[in-house]
Amino acid sequence: MTENTEEQKPTRMPPVVTLDAKFFWDHATKGELVCERCSNCDTFRYPPRPMCPDCHSVERDIVPLSGKGTVYSWIRPRHPKPFGFDEPPIAALITLEEGFRMVSNLIDIEFEDVTAGMPVEVTFVPTLKNKQVPVFRPAKG
Ligand SMILES: [Zn+2]
Repeated sequence: MTENTEEQKPTRMPPVVTLDAKFFWDHATKGELVCERCSNCDTFRYPPRPMCPDCHSVERDIVPLSGKGTVYSWIRPRHPKPFGFDEPPIAALITLEEGFRMVSNLIDIEFEDVTAGMPVEVTFVPTLKNKQVPVFRPAKG
């Protein structure tokens, strides 16, 4: 992918930040993948939300994630053409090591080479407005 290099300005749209998810995007901009976890029953809350879906507690901890996972499914959206990309990115559903799934993009791999269950790891790419978003690439080693 030639989406972003240090010499190029980012063209990717910045994340749409809601109050519940602000912590997630703030950490992503620092290059950290985190999730909120219920302080009462240890259930991960993803996507971010104000209350635990299991025990209804509003108490939470922000915890780091390993950033490792596997590809569950993937697609290359063609229409409409995504804004900010010469070539549409690969949109993928990643099963994280922690047991829940995250929608993201795959980079550093051709669409034809992606396989189900492929190990991937998180990395971060810059966006407009000096933010970063998590994306995934084939795991090294
Ligand atoms: Zn809970």
